[in-house]
Amino acid sequence: MYQRPLERISIAGTVKLWGSPGRAGGLPKGNYLRLSVTDRCNLRCRYCMPAEGTAKVGHGDILSYEELLRIARTAVTIGVEKIRVTGGEPLGRRGIIGFLRQLAAIPGLQRLVLTTNGVMLPEMAAPLRDAGVESLNISLDSLRQQTFASITRGGDLRQVLAGIAAAESAGFRFIKINVVVMRGINDDELEEFAALTLDRPWRVRFIEYMPTLAEPGWETTVVPGAEIMARLSRRFAMTDEASENLAGPARYQRIAGAAGLIGVITPVSCHFCGDCNRIRVTSRGIAKSCLLDRGTIDLRPILAGGDDTALREALCRTVAEKPDRHRLEEGSNRQRQIAMAGIGG
Ligand code: SAM
Ligand code: SF4
Repeated sequence: MYQRPLERISIAGTVKLWGSPGRAGGLPKGNYLRLSVTDRCNLRCRYCMPAEGTAKVGHGDILSYEELLRIARTAVTIGVEKIRVTGGEPLGRRGIIGFLRQLAAIPGLQRLVLTTNGVMLPEMAAPLRDAGVESLNISLDSLRQQTFASITRGGDLRQVLAGIAAAESAGFRFIKINVVVMRGINDDELEEFAALTLDRPWRVRFIEYMPTLAEPGWETTVVPGAEIMARLSRRFAMTDEASENLAGPARYQRIAGAAGLIGVITPVSCHFCGDCNRIRVTSRGIAKSCLLDRGTIDLRPILAGGDDTALREALCRTVAEKPDRHRLEEGSNRQRQIAMAGIGG
């Protein structure tokens, strides 16, 4: 297990613990908290959930908004500057707007962002922006109704497109479109997605499909990021874009003259673990040092104890225990199902 240098993880009250530059691009470490607020979802994407959905989780089993706020406030005291709210489908949890408003008001938090499937955005985009959400990641894996319905097991593309339009009108800083690329399913749409950036200021991000449901033969479904970019560069002239502070793992390119950017996220073909600056907390209160690794700490007993120092220590330990790389290729992880909806991607 890789251990981060101790001076970065000592516990020191409200002192900011991780501000030192990362190994690439000067990214600060440990400055990004992802909170999954629900396991439930109004879609059933094939790569994320079985057709019957996730096992029923009662409201008492997921963290309350008060608990989530306590985690968020504590994380900010130790240097977290950006929080992403995710799920399941976060917009489906009752009271989400009020919760987001409270999150946005945490002193010291620089960015509050959210990931959504976009279905509920037509009515919720404006209230989200008003609550203080700065940017949205919207999942959209196909621009064709039939393919979209097949991937999401019944979703309606028109709702998501209307949601994106509502997000544009609401004035978010960034609209990022997340496309999970799957060979033989939607990889014939790469160029069409990329062309969306020509006149829209969106960031279209192609994500390598991860075998979280442990299906046999998953390797053939993955389209490596290098292949995605090679295919796009045959069609478009593109140049690299520098990544900004508090950015995620995407590397961006711009088609000459385009309003928006194209990104690739390569969790499978290329480990970015060494530069990973995330703490994940699942809807059931498990802090994870890595999406794909087992390093976990159950925060619920700590939350029940009411001691903020213990909570700070647990969050710091999560960063300290980050693996040097994930073990996706290795046998144990290939056969293991990963509950993406509970972790939040
Ligand atoms: N429901 C919201 C949505 O779909 O955007 C938020 C939760 S979803 C779990 C977060 C992100 O994880 C989405 O962008 C989704 O595409 C991605 N994701 C889920 N399963 C994946 C997989 N097997 N491989 C790659 N990305 C995946
Ligand atoms: Fe729901 Fe998002 Fe998972 Fe699709 S990827 S099933 S929208 S949680």
